[in-house]
Amino acid sequence: SALARPEVRGLPAYNAGLSSAAVRARYGVAHIARLGSNENPYGASPAVAQALAGLAAQAGTYPDANAGALREGIARWTGAPAERIVVGNGSENLLEVLCQVFLTPGDRVVTLLPSFGLHEIYPRMMGAQVTMVPVTSALEFDVDAWCAALAGGAKLVFLANPSNPVGCMLDTAAFRRIVAAAPEDAVLVVDEAYVEYALHSPGFPDAVAELSAQPRPWIVLRTFSKAWGLAGLRVGYGIASSAEFAGLLHRVRTPFNVNMAAQMAALAALSDPAHMQASVARTVAAREVLVRQLRGLDVAGLRIAPSATNFLFIDLGRPNAPVHEALLARGVITKAWKERGFENYLRVSVGTAEDNQRFVDALAEILG
Ligand code: PMP
Repeated sequence: SALARPEVRGLPAYNAGLSSAAVRARYGVAHIARLGSNENPYGASPAVAQALAGLAAQAGTYPDANAGALREGIARWTGAPAERIVVGNGSENLLEVLCQVFLTPGDRVVTLLPSFGLHEIYPRMMGAQVTMVPVTSALEFDVDAWCAALAGGAKLVFLANPSNPVGCMLDTAAFRRIVAAAPEDAVLVVDEAYVEYALHSPGFPDAVAELSAQPRPWIVLRTFSKAWGLAGLRVGYGIASSAEFAGLLHRVRTPFNVNMAAQMAALAALSDPAHMQASVARTVAAREVLVRQLRGLDVAGLRIAPSATNFLFIDLGRPNAPVHEALLARGVITKAWKERGFENYLRVSVGTAEDNQRFVDALAEILG
């Protein structure tokens, strides 16, 4: 490991959690409530299964390196021209490619604390300095602190709206303030992995429309992993400010970064937006039920962050590790935050009504 670059030696590992099979084997529980990865419990449209039925017959050829049909489909869905659409092996692939395109050692990146792990790991991999702006004590974006951090300069800004793991969002006014505070030569990356859920929250900004007036380079990232129910197939996309910007990403990404099954599935999913919208509506309704149930537990010190997403960030008021472990032993997978200052926090995805109930019952037992 002494041969590895120093940036790599110092990297934290991404915490992807345990698989269902591993939890089943370790604890001998029959039913697993998968509430650790913000997946969509209702899955993708049946149109996906139909599209994939023809996959094996075509699998001997390479996928379309330009993902032409899929990018046209995304263009129709988003209203942005296909020449400004870039697709990735999950949106995490696009985060990585953005860092490879823009960052040299010593560059400054600004993101949220706590943030999606890869918003910190990929910049550090390139030798960049990552400034993380803490959320407020009410677990909201600290817009003043963001403006102050941006005034110190930045090459790349990772703004997840809504955020993960907290779930909080910037409304249009706050979004405008942060965009205005970003240095003119900074690349603005708005990570909208949870946008389809956030559209149910009043005041959520239309980032693409807001940024269109901006002279600086920007990109809005989205994914098929959450609302569209395709986490296993790994497809994300970006809407870039210009075809030239998109071209930079095309130059750096691996040529066949989105495989054939993923391209077919994502295109099929786009043919049935009603399925996606129905699953999002169910999840948003289930989230509100879950919040009420958790408040009803009446556990001293328990706090729930405001959420515009398909998950809740919960301050347990005590160390998260034993609670996380006790939940696993009951077959409930959640995610425990390890970052300094957040050792009391647990993130739980909103699942089916039954799995949410399992989580609430287990938590009541553990904390009671
Ligand atoms: N950005 C954010 C904010 C996320 O929460 C996630 C997934 N947890 C991703 C990006 C990456 O998602 P994917 O690679 O599955 O598209």
